[in-house]
Amino acid sequence: MQSIPAKTIVTRTKSEEWFGARYNMNIYRGCCHGCIYCDSRSSCYRNPDFDTVKVKENALEIIRGDLRRKVQKGVVATGAMSDPYNPFEQQLKLTRHALELLWAYGFGAAVDTKSDLIVRDRDILSDIAEQMPVLVKFSITAADEETAAKIEPHAPSTARRFAAMEQLAGAGLFTGLLLMPVLPGITDSRENIRELIHRAAAAGARFVYTYPGLTMREGQREYFYAALDREYPGFSARYQRRYGGRYHCPAPGAKALWELCQEESARLGLLTDMRGIIAASRQGYGEQLSLF
Ligand code: SF4
Repeated sequence: MQSIPAKTIVTRTKSEEWFGARYNMNIYRGCCHGCIYCDSRSSCYRNPDFDTVKVKENALEIIRGDLRRKVQKGVVATGAMSDPYNPFEQQLKLTRHALELLWAYGFGAAVDTKSDLIVRDRDILSDIAEQMPVLVKFSITAADEETAAKIEPHAPSTARRFAAMEQLAGAGLFTGLLLMPVLPGITDSRENIRELIHRAAAAGARFVYTYPGLTMREGQREYFYAALDREYPGFSARYQRRYGGRYHCPAPGAKALWELCQEESARLGLLTDMRGIIAASRQGYGEQLSLF
């Protein structure tokens, strides 16, 4: 485990449009879950050894100072650039202690993860939820475990993620499914989309948020294509023909997939639009949110 210096960790987001988060917090840098499509590998983030998890020195002291200086309360997101529940977290408990600080200083939390280790922290997440919104977003992209193991080789299985979702939803936490990316030719079948939505509903999810395609940038694209060459021979050439150097790469039939997601989710009572998800996550926090 390497450590790296950091000056601040809790930073302001550009807007609260992404799940209502006012702040962002990355305790770790890099991620070892190995997702072949991960955007955080892109060269623009200047983290060439992305798969090596680095911990920020004095992370908890820095987070405490950051939170104390914030004039406005709000929801703090974690998990955008690095899974906060990587395997090292089991011993280090930095994410757990950071959540305790969020609770102590009166902030909400929006956690994005592929790990069932988050179940360990349901007590502190519930404590936070007593005073501010908590959103738990499980990133799950493949119903078929063999596919999941190919595209997210070191992350907990799809079944473990759904089991974790069920436990957190059962504890009354606001949870949902991040169904993205949708990889053309790999996870873009209607069966996959439908099954993931149905399993999310059965696990007690309140929302499904999808983008029927993927994004690709320099650095990430090359890594992704090399992984495709190993796992899905011939696919990278097909991707290159279709998408070239594009950033937004919608799956073929993206509109129909989008509609399928909307219809299935609506039928099962799951929210799909960002404004609705944010509003639902804030329901019941009137007094606290007037401080936003
Ligand atoms: S878990 Fe998230 S941050 Fe980690 S490799 Fe996968 S997509 Fe990237």
